[in-house]
Amino acid sequence: MAKKIWVNIEGGDPTKSEGRVVQFDINATETKPGSAKGVDVFVFGEPDGGNEDATYMGAAHRGQNFQTDPPYCTKVTLVGTKTPAKVQISIAGGDKWGFKVSKKADASGAKKKPGDPYEAWRKIYVQVGHMADCSSVDPTSLNGKLAKLFIEIEKVGAMRELPHAGTSPEIVPPMSALGKAAGAPPHPAITVRVVFVDRIIRPGDLKWDFDFTPSMLSKGRQMKIKVKDDKLSWPFDDWLQSGKIYLFDGKGARMAEDPIQNFVSRTKAGKGSSGRSYEHKEGLVTNRLLFDFKKFPNIERWMAEKGGKGKIFIGMRNIESSAGGLAHPTSPWVTVASRSGWFYKKRKDMPQILLHELGHITGNVLRHIPRFTADTGVSDDSDENSMWYDKHGGVGNHCHSGSTLKADTCEAGPGACVMFHSTGGGGNDFCDSCQKILKRAPLSKLGRVNVWGDAGWA
Ligand SMILES: [Zn+2]
Ligand SMILES: [Zn+2]
Repeated sequence: MAKKIWVNIEGGDPTKSEGRVVQFDINATETKPGSAKGVDVFVFGEPDGGNEDATYMGAAHRGQNFQTDPPYCTKVTLVGTKTPAKVQISIAGGDKWGFKVSKKADASGAKKKPGDPYEAWRKIYVQVGHMADCSSVDPTSLNGKLAKLFIEIEKVGAMRELPHAGTSPEIVPPMSALGKAAGAPPHPAITVRVVFVDRIIRPGDLKWDFDFTPSMLSKGRQMKIKVKDDKLSWPFDDWLQSGKIYLFDGKGARMAEDPIQNFVSRTKAGKGSSGRSYEHKEGLVTNRLLFDFKKFPNIERWMAEKGGKGKIFIGMRNIESSAGGLAHPTSPWVTVASRSGWFYKKRKDMPQILLHELGHITGNVLRHIPRFTADTGVSDDSDENSMWYDKHGGVGNHCHSGSTLKADTCEAGPGACVMFHSTGGGGNDFCDSCQKILKRAPLSKLGRVNVWGDAGWA
């Protein structure tokens, strides 16, 4: 069994195996009291044969003193019979290191440090919250899949219940509500805040005008209209901004006009097709308007008018809403929405969505991923893997592994990578290529652009 070292916890406690610095004691025997003090010895790091290829690792990410000759050699001056050695190991998940100590810089007569080798692991702290009744998943349930990437999620505090509130990609009230409820995390740079909300919305305004005729009104002088783009929906409060209704006779002369306010309302939300409407007590969104003209000026004369026409101008506050996941562009924040206006994400898709977004938060998938030279670790190449979508449609910064190519786009099959550009119906784990990227990702700072820097997302 290798000893786990949490290489991404910067400024952590080395005695708790936090940080890249491995600390162990060098024991020396003395020929007479005090003779060991001041003697120089040499600690050699012994990277495992299966460690990450150096061409994927920048100089700063490799084991300490890799470039010296001999490599991985650190001089330690003894302080007595027991001297702490501190050696910095590489950052790639699963990299294993043993050590040996020699009195000579050429490693002759070196003695192997007893005990198990050290193995690089990465810790991700998670604070998690959900709006009442929204589907959620315990992030630690992903640890089985993350173990092969040498990543472990540790939950900080319990699942917090958050108030129902608007959620937008830029301003995220549930995120600050979670922050307030859960408090400051132990290591903010590697703590991911995950919120499960009902929907992700983009508020906006919609202006619309349309014609109507007497034949469109019922006997009760009512008319139901569906908002023209059925992806649009809006909240119950303050949805109506402005509007006016005009009636014209057969020759186009104005017969009546009135502000819209007293004649239009939103119809009751329809029953949820999924049978999960109990999840959201404020009700499902509707895109249907009910016009009631019973009290509209001159309405009965207009109804009898041959060739009569009406015109409606309406200004609405609308909301484009979607279900799915969102990794915040800069902060280590993940929002998972269980519904759009009408559709619920299936519960079984929740772990897949969360895994996908955590993939982004930990530096998957990128436009450019640097390659390095084997000797000095200078960047000399870039990886253009995810440019694939530019030519084939879809959303970039995603992985197409395991998908089926169609004429101008692709479809996820059961074996598709979880980093495919849409979730649901595809695979539920990282492909080999995405696993390799996650293993070498420097995870001391989390967040979509923080892991590799801006260049990766450009
Ligand atoms: Zn994505
Ligand atoms: Zn992939």
